[in-house]
Formats: sequence, C-alpha cells, structure tokens
Amino acid sequence: MKVHLKQIPPQGLHLTGDEECPLQDLASEEIRCAGSLHYDIDVGVGDGGLWANGSLSQPMEMRCVSCLEKFVHEIRVSAFAVHTELPGPETVDLTPFMREDLLLNLPAHPHCDRDGDRVCKAKLIKAEQQDAKRKSDWSALDKLKLNR
Ligand SMILES: [Zn+2]
Repeated sequence: MKVHLKQIPPQGLHLTGDEECPLQDLASEEIRCAGSLHYDIDVGVGDGGLWANGSLSQPMEMRCVSCLEKFVHEIRVSAFAVHTELPGPETVDLTPFMREDLLLNLPAHPHCDRDGDRVCKAKLIKAEQQDAKRKSDWSALDKLKLNR
C-alpha cells in the first residue's frame, strides 16, 4: 500500500482497510492467500522519516503437516512497526514492510488445530491407536489372570 506523504497531517493519520494479499507470489500446493490483507495502522512523518505502527491480519490457506488437509489460518501481526527514511517527495510503499512482517509470522510447520477451532485428524487417529493399544494391554493382562 502506498502512502501519500502530502496527505499525512502533522499529527499523523489513522489508516484502516483492506489491500490485495501481498503474498500472492507464494501461491503453491502448500499455501495461498485466502482473502485480502486487513490493516489498522497509524502513520506519521517526523525526524526526516516516515513511521507506521499498528496491526495486520492476512488469512492464508495452508496444508496441515500432520493430516495434510487444507485449512485457513489468519496470520496476525499485532505490533507492525516501521520507521523508514523518506525516499522521495511523494509516496512511500508500505507493502514490502507488511510482506516481511507477515512472512515472519508465517508458521513454518502449520498444524490445522493451532487456532483451537478444530481437531487434527492425524491426532484423532493417534489417540484411537493409543486407545486400542491400551485395550490390548489390558486384554493381555486379563489373559494372564485367566491362566493363573
Ligand atoms: Zn491436521
């Protein structure tokens, strides 16, 4: 997103809205944008630079490393902060900074149950297997008792 410096009043400016997902180029089988970037930031000019801080959120569809199912995870950057020198007289593009912060908050090993709103099938299967194993342990014990 480009910020027009002339539109920033001395006391700063509050910007909130949606932008095209800045991670489009990541698109693959494993990950892709699942909506637009939402930003809620304050920007201002001072000390010969532009500063911006606020929060970002970007829904991404990714594949769970355990069950291989796709799920949507919202990347949240709660402390987006930028201070950059003013490159030119007109505009500053904040997109590269937002992109970098989103990438930093991208889970390296995404699990579909990370947000707690669903149960990972891989874990369910594991739990069932453990359950079955526990039962067979007991039945072995039962047999021991019978043999006595
Ligand atoms: Zn999963």
